Amino acid sequence: MALYENARRAAQAAFVSEWSLMERLAREGQSPSVLFIGCSDSRVMPSRVLGARPGDVFVMRNVANVVPPADAGESAVGAVIEYAVVHLKVPHIVVCGHLDCGGVHALDASLDPHREPHITRWLAYIRPALQEIPPDLTGEARHRAVVEANVRLQLRHLRTYPCVAQALREGRLTLHGWVYDLGTGSLWRCDEETGHFVE
Ligand SMILES: [Zn+2]
Repeated sequence: MALYENARRAAQAAFVSEWSLMERLAREGQSPSVLFIGCSDSRVMPSRVLGARPGDVFVMRNVANVVPPADAGESAVGAVIEYAVVHLKVPHIVVCGHLDCGGVHALDASLDPHREPHITRWLAYIRPALQEIPPDLTGEARHRAVVEANVRLQLRHLRTYPCVAQALREGRLTLHGWVYDLGTGSLWRCDEETGHFVE
């Protein structure tokens, strides 16, 4: 019961420290300004990356911050995007990759499709990013390049959702691509013009 007891105390303490905000959010509902699409990695905490408070961020996390194309039929992802864009009308969507990403590392590993069929299928949504990587890149430089290319790829996938495309056309939505370096706390953003990441 230690897990539950710790969680119960933490939930209460968090509520007490922000009770007026939490009370207002409970009364008025949520109106987050960002949909954050990040990796499930335990070291990438959206509220810390964004410096956000309760009510600020709608979150979707999965292995390697993937947005399958709209026609892939991955409803768990599509439902979050539609809820955020159509109902909550978030003005910003962030796709945030990170260095030392296990999902990206797994692209170079030999996966057993019988033992881990879901990971094997999931990585197919990242694999096209490898086409952008110069063959002479190795080690850390290659990993960073794949993480960045993956963010750019998932941003392109995001635009295939009709609700996203419409919100972009109407000028009420901005897409952002970021890479978080969890070893230094640095945050890099994708320059829309060049596709390069700058701090
Ligand atoms: Zn990751």
